[in-house]
Order: sequence, then C-alpha cells, then structure tokens
Amino acid sequence: AIPLVVSVSTSKAANEGFLIRNRTAFEQARNVNAIIFDKTGTLTQGEFGVTDVKLFKENYSREELLKLAASLETRSEHSIAQGIVEAVDETYEVSDFNSITGKGVTGKVEGKQLAVVSPGYLEEQDIEIPDREQVDKLASEGKTIVYVLIDDSLEGAIALGDQIRKESYEAVKKLKEAGIQCMMLTGDNKQVAKYVADELGLEDYFAEVLPDEKSEKVKEVQSRGLVVAMVGDGVNDAPALAQADVGIAIGAGSDVAVETADLILVKNNPNDVVAAILLAKATYRKMI
Ligand code: ADP
Ligand code: MG
Repeated sequence: AIPLVVSVSTSKAANEGFLIRNRTAFEQARNVNAIIFDKTGTLTQGEFGVTDVKLFKENYSREELLKLAASLETRSEHSIAQGIVEAVDETYEVSDFNSITGKGVTGKVEGKQLAVVSPGYLEEQDIEIPDREQVDKLASEGKTIVYVLIDDSLEGAIALGDQIRKESYEAVKKLKEAGIQCMMLTGDNKQVAKYVADELGLEDYFAEVLPDEKSEKVKEVQSRGLVVAMVGDGVNDAPALAQADVGIAIGAGSDVAVETADLILVKNNPNDVVAAILLAKATYRKMI
C-alpha cells in the first residue's frame, strides 16, 4: 500500500506545479545539495530575437545575409533558428540541408554553400573572426552569436537576444538560502554563459558543452560528492536528466526530456523546482 503521506504528497505536488514520475527519485530530492540548470529555455525564456547583423565583408547586404541564413534555418527546429526566421519576410528554397548537433546548420541556398554555426565551430575549423571586439561586446551583453559562412567565406554574424526569466532570480536566491549550490550547463558560448551566471549569482557554470557531453558534466559535479538535480527542457538534455540523481523536465519541453525525467514542472517556472525540493524534504521528514 502507498503510505498516506506519500499519496498526499502526490496531490500536493500537482498543486505546487509539478508531477512525480519516479517516486524513488522524488525521495532523493530531499538530499539534493546541487542543482544544474540548462540555460536556454530553462533559466531563460528560450525565445530569441535578432538584435544585430554584422558584416565582415562587402559581398552581401545585411538584408541579404539575413535572408540567406533564415532560408537555411527554416529547416531547423532550434530556438535560434526560429528567431532568425522570424526576422525576415520571405526565404529561398534549401537543398542538401544538414544539422550539426550543438554546432549549427549547413545547406545549399541560391546555388551557394551556406553554414550558420556557433563560435565553437569556427574555432574548431581554425577560422579567424575579424573584428572580434565588436562581436565580443555583443556576447558580453548576454547575446548569442551565430556566424554565417557562404561558400567557405566568413561573411557575417547574427546576434540574438533571449531573456532571463524573472522567476529564475527568485528560484536561485531561495535555493542558495536553502544551502543548495546552483549551476548552469549550456551549449551557448562562454561570454553569454558568464553574463547569465553573474546576473543570477550562480556558483558555477559550464559553457560550450556539446549535447553528448552534458551527462559527463553532471557526473563531474556528482564526483565532487554532491547529490545533483538537473533541470532541462531539450532533447539534448535527456542523457543529463537520466544521469542526475533527480532529473527535472520543464513540461513544455521536448517529449524525450519529459519521458526521461523523474519530476515534471507543469509550468515553465524555475520556482517550482524550489517547491519540489521543499515538498520532498517535508514529506519524507514526516515519514521517519
Ligand atoms: P543549448 O544548450 O543552449 O540548448 P545547443 O546545444 O542546442 O544549445 O546549441 C549550442 C550552440 O550551437 C548554439 O548556441 C548555437 O551557437 C549553435 N546552434 C545550434 N543549432 C543551431 C542552428 N539551428 N542555427 C545556428 N546555430 C545553431
Ligand atoms: Mg535547452
């Protein structure tokens, strides 16, 4: 039989804005002393808007560069892609589309070989960024930067802004007060990560983490002797959610994340993570 306090906590959980998929993990939530949040879509709204387009050469106008990039991005489901597509009125046809997980997209548009990629991808390919200062300034303001390559020539950069959820500030503050370390994991670049981490007062962060490395980072934090909860929303986050002592998915996130998680937040509110941990503590204290 299900102990009374546990069944009570199930309905209470729903009231507090989360669902319990794995009761053992929920029990473990009372011991959590470190929380790793995914950045995009979890601590931030995950809704990108184009703020700046920088040209490195004079082969294309800003409008044309953005239109070419947007055409390619019509084929991607990434939130960055959505932001770029929304910035234009019309797009070209795309062929030979390819997505490089955690790094960007490539394909043919208007007879040209196009790539819209991360800073990490450029580094990996040893491609120099001209006018570094300009892009670094945008990144230090918390903007995400993607680069546009046309026929192997680095033509420009697109900056996109996302917003930190206002609930994230409160959630981090409360968790820290409860003695829980708050960290962040992201595939986005180091400067953006630093901006968000500083803004929220996070204790640690990992940037430019490729999707298949996310669960390794969770392991690394566990090896510090910490009981870790991971909060994420994306398909990419599923292995990290599985690795964590408590995996928490945002309900509006991908099906894969939701199916892997131990707890599901009904709304996209990081504050409900606090509610979940506090309820776990209260529930299992009563049982002993
Ligand atoms: P996150 O951990 O923030 O959800 P991802 O691992 O999905 O990030 O992506 C990491 C980085 O890869 C992005 O910040 C971006 O630079 C690049 N990227 C991924 N998908 C795309 C895309 N469709 N277009 C351009 N860049 C992309
Ligand atoms: Mg994400």
